[in-house]
Amino acid sequence: MSAQTILLLFIIFFFLDLGWETILTLLNLHHVRQNAGTVPSAFAGTVDPATYARSVSYTLVHGRFGLLAGLVSSAIRLAVVLTGFLGTLDTLVRTLPIHPYLQGVVFIAAVSLLFWIVGLPFSLYSTFSIEARFGFNKTTPWTWIADLAKGLGVSAVIGIPVLLALFWFMDRTGAFWWIWAFGALTAFELVMSILAPLVIAPLFNKFTPLPDGELRQAIDALATRLSFRTRGIFVVDGSRRSRHSNAYFTGLGRAKRIVLYDTLVSSHGVEEILSVLAHEIGHEKHHHITKGLAISIAASAVGFWILSLALPWAPLYKAFGFAQPGYHSILVLLAFFSGPLTFFLEPLVSLRSRRQEYEADRFAVQGMGSAAGMKAALLRLGRDNLSNLSPHPLYSFIHYSHPTLVERLAALERFERALPQT
Ligand SMILES: [Zn+2]
Repeated sequence: MSAQTILLLFIIFFFLDLGWETILTLLNLHHVRQNAGTVPSAFAGTVDPATYARSVSYTLVHGRFGLLAGLVSSAIRLAVVLTGFLGTLDTLVRTLPIHPYLQGVVFIAAVSLLFWIVGLPFSLYSTFSIEARFGFNKTTPWTWIADLAKGLGVSAVIGIPVLLALFWFMDRTGAFWWIWAFGALTAFELVMSILAPLVIAPLFNKFTPLPDGELRQAIDALATRLSFRTRGIFVVDGSRRSRHSNAYFTGLGRAKRIVLYDTLVSSHGVEEILSVLAHEIGHEKHHHITKGLAISIAASAVGFWILSLALPWAPLYKAFGFAQPGYHSILVLLAFFSGPLTFFLEPLVSLRSRRQEYEADRFAVQGMGSAAGMKAALLRLGRDNLSNLSPHPLYSFIHYSHPTLVERLAALERFERALPQT
């Protein structure tokens, strides 16, 4: 395959990806506008017209803005490819009087910085204008700057050694370097998934053990009843940045912990919080976290294998303006290709994720002996987060990692009817 054919194929896939995403978003926004007049029948009586109207305008503002941000970033990516900017930058970086591995680090940092700068105005506008307008933003400029500095520090402390190790594997471990590199990186990721909640997350947020009281005792009773062992239940000060509320689960094996947003604890009743937790425990009991990890490890093995095939392929570098092959160049090219070459896999990923959400919901209904708490919690989350209550079916089918609220509420009722009668 010639360099020209490779470039042409890249451009074709690039526009397929961009076109598909744009059409889906436009379709979704059109659908939301068409249904803007009346509260969808599934929510009549539970969502008041004023809240619905706010959720519609939040979805529209957010969606249009996302479209614009996506188009600008795509245009820059295309310009970077077509102008041969990557090759020019590579030639420049190779004149630096430092070790070639470090030149590679500088190259990747420079490309990342470019895209960060392109995204910066959008990220600022989204946080301080859109989120603020809808009453979600609580981030002060100072928190924003501190987050930025900490994020940069963490990326450097983790990213630079990982890159240097990768370059070393590519350089020194022969034809099967990709197997060694894959093994080492996987081991590192496993260690990080245990360390990250303990070391990195506390840099950004304060995690306090849930204090003793009615909620704590109810949670302990639930955990015992569902024979679930955890390393603790923590409340995170999510309210420092945003009013959006959530609950999640981090860590692996014995280090796993349950994290509740303070916004969730303050706005939901005990039964709702217990239901949300039972849902999270359902994910664990169905081994969703372990399965997800196994899939991502397998995907990373495939990624490394592809990388090993692409590394010595001279026309690929030529297609993107590089004068010579390079370890850092192939990593950046992989990042450029990963979107356009995998976007059609997204429906499969979403489908699998939604199936797991139903499994966890069913577990929650069985564990609680009723669907009432879960339904109330989802409705409240939907209202508080101004979720889109009328997404286009194709859009939600492709993009949603969770079933739509209508689908979830209907399934919860089915699960409740299937409970053994006592
Ligand atoms: Zn879930």
